[in-house]
Amino acid sequence: MTTTVDDFPAQDPVYRTAGLWESLTIPAQFAKVVAQHTDRLAVITAEGVLSYGDLDARSDRIAAGLLQLGLDPGDRVLLQITNRLESIIAWYALLKAALVPVATLAPHREHEINAISRQAEAKAHLVEASLPFDLITFATAIATNHPTLRHLLTIGTPTKDAPLGSTAASRAIPLESLGAGLDPAEARALVAAAQATVDPDDLAVLQLSGGTTGTPKLIPRQHAEYWYNAAAYAERLGWTHETRVAHLIPVVHNAGITCAVHAAASVGATLVLGTVDPATWVPLIARTNADAVLIGHGHFSAFAAPGVLDAMPSLRQVILSGAKVPDRLFDELERRGIWSGQLFGMGEGLFCVSNLDDPREARLRTVGTALSPLDEIKLLQPDTELEVADGEVGELCARGPYTIRGYYRAADHNRRAFTSDGFYRTGDLARWGSYDGRAYLHIEGRIKDVINRGGEKISADEVERLLLAHPSISQAAVVAMPDARLGEKACAFVVADRDLDVPDVQHHLSALGVAKFKWPERVVRVAELPRTNVGKIDKTALRRLVPGSGNSPAG
Ligand code: AMP
Repeated sequence: MTTTVDDFPAQDPVYRTAGLWESLTIPAQFAKVVAQHTDRLAVITAEGVLSYGDLDARSDRIAAGLLQLGLDPGDRVLLQITNRLESIIAWYALLKAALVPVATLAPHREHEINAISRQAEAKAHLVEASLPFDLITFATAIATNHPTLRHLLTIGTPTKDAPLGSTAASRAIPLESLGAGLDPAEARALVAAAQATVDPDDLAVLQLSGGTTGTPKLIPRQHAEYWYNAAAYAERLGWTHETRVAHLIPVVHNAGITCAVHAAASVGATLVLGTVDPATWVPLIARTNADAVLIGHGHFSAFAAPGVLDAMPSLRQVILSGAKVPDRLFDELERRGIWSGQLFGMGEGLFCVSNLDDPREARLRTVGTALSPLDEIKLLQPDTELEVADGEVGELCARGPYTIRGYYRAADHNRRAFTSDGFYRTGDLARWGSYDGRAYLHIEGRIKDVINRGGEKISADEVERLLLAHPSISQAAVVAMPDARLGEKACAFVVADRDLDVPDVQHHLSALGVAKFKWPERVVRVAELPRTNVGKIDKTALRRLVPGSGNSPAG
């Protein structure tokens, strides 16, 4: 399946002329790394290790098997997999077969997968079989009467609830079985033929927007610019083939693919892939002598817990992301000689990252500087194209060599989400500050209506629409409530004809097949929702009313 000019606006080729993009696809970049680092370890997980050579051979074989199944270059493949060794093999196999991974997540359910699979016209669905929730039976149901889904693929050993041999499982094809009998040279030839159809500026991956609207938006990332994003990140952090990069956040997210999978590979480094559970990642980092790690808000308290840093003496670099950095954690890391800095990034592109030689205060208080010399940033007065005065807070808008010019098949939305000259309106608020004469970006909140639950973004608008489908709810507004571990959780204010509690609302959303991380964890019934003087729901007033906010009568 090929994309057309109507699918998403093309990037500006000036970035290739400027020497930032290479004329290579992601698999071609990977092949260069494999040639240089064949015997070096590419990935370590709790399940095992793979050298670059092994990863190359196994992903070749599976890529060839995917093509033999009848999948064609350009076909989209939904992913519901977690941080496992096979996930990395699957990632490169899909790209080598010229298939387009769609970065859906294991926790997504019918509500998300039905919409995204249709939007992406997915042909295959790759699920992890070993999770407590039976994704095989789930994916089988999704494929029933689906206009395009034809293939169900699995990694991991099926759970007890869906043993191989059950009707659902029997249609599922274990990824590892693909291309099993193929000679390596034959597999290589099939991959080469598929790759011959791909241009470096073709669609490589569909990432998911942490969006603000009721319907999910897909982010089209292209081969050359996506690899450039990752390589520039590894370079900013001074990584080499000797670096061991630990990653603990879901790997299929943009941060996982860019900052961990591709960035580590771009320099021939080793990816140490952990899971969210400290009981597994602490010993994994310790055992593998990992030296760099990216952590989000959800990890801040785990890293600050007694004994945790003592147990990981190999760490040399910690990149903090997703929220303001607590002074105490930063001080503790630096006291131990661990270089600490920040990342502000997004699936749509723009990254701001601390520089290795930034002064301590800049690394603690700011998100550093834009990753590329050709990134352009404007701080605009919201809903206008007017720049704010120097030092003032404005909406962060960006254009550059790895920032999209438009979402996938979303022309109407693109008119609102981008300025007339192609800057992406991030919905985040920022201001410029300076340390030692250098300009740095401070993040000052956001205007977009999302809740950031431990890094997973929840669109308030989406959840509000779903709540309104409840027969007793006539009005709904969802806002963030502070949470010590996750940063934020969703709190719903509802006008309803009867008392509703959290289980009522969660039961309703569960019945609609909504991913659990979006379910409100607090429900407040009100007589009416506060309104601004133009009649819009006053979310600022509601945030003050959130139980536990310190301002609410309850809290
Ligand atoms: P995603 O595309 O899911 O990676 O989400 C990107 C969004 O996460 C940004 O637009 C911000 O709202 C938020 N974000 C990312 N990094 C940071 C950070 N360092 N500080 C505050 N918010 C962040």
